Amino acid sequence: LSNKENPRTLLKIKYLSLFPDQIRQGLSYSLIQKAIRSGIVETQFIQIRDFSTDKHRTVDDTPYGGGEGMVMRADVLFRAWSSVKTADSYTVFLSPQGKLFTQKDAKELTQRKDLIFVCGHYEGVDERFIEECVDQEYSIGDYVLTGGELPALVISDAVIRLLPGTVQNPDSLTQETFEDGLLKYPQYTRPREFQGRKVPEVLLSGDHQKIAEFRLNERKKRTQARRPDLWQRRST
Ligand code: SAM
Repeated sequence: LSNKENPRTLLKIKYLSLFPDQIRQGLSYSLIQKAIRSGIVETQFIQIRDFSTDKHRTVDDTPYGGGEGMVMRADVLFRAWSSVKTADSYTVFLSPQGKLFTQKDAKELTQRKDLIFVCGHYEGVDERFIEECVDQEYSIGDYVLTGGELPALVISDAVIRLLPGTVQNPDSLTQETFEDGLLKYPQYTRPREFQGRKVPEVLLSGDHQKIAEFRLNERKKRTQARRPDLWQRRST
């Protein structure tokens, strides 16, 4: 992150982590890398360990009250967080106990200017840091991962691809799965026949209205069959 403001920058994302290289590496492909290179997104990686004050660079300790594992210290995290927090910052803690992250949340996060992702590790994070500094806790699913790095990458990817200029054809975003509560229609490309399976005839007809009807119908069928929860929410 440079001191000079880049006029193209729509979003700054700061990552607080014990393994920042995992995130840096994860962001270095495809459209996400392009968005970062073009300056649409600015990233900054903060090694939490740099804010430890003892000679062993300790960041965690045993839990008060006993129990399994180690807990990340609130004071160390607070110093790391304070080093990058601004008046615009919106702080997200990745946690299996957070709100389940959805496409709607991704859209909302595109409206922020400055995101701070805090990645936990080990048994978790001292609750007082969360109370003091965190605006939102997000989970990426009902399973437990080793750390918040992968969840931070998942959320970053979902947000960055929605920023204007990242995906070249914005129309490709509007008919996507979840965009209007329906899953995407099945897609086909060459060859016309594969293992005896033919591309649906209507897609070769050139009749745009028929194609649109076919696709909408497929989207409805799929959503009903695969995601009755989405379908129900849509028709109520
Ligand atoms: N003991 C914690 C609990 O039961 O909630 C789990 C700690 S987990 C091993 C370590 C860190 O990984 C968490 O602090 C969080 O930052 C991250 N993490 C794990 N699973 C996640 C998920 N499904 N979504 C978001 N973050 C997750």
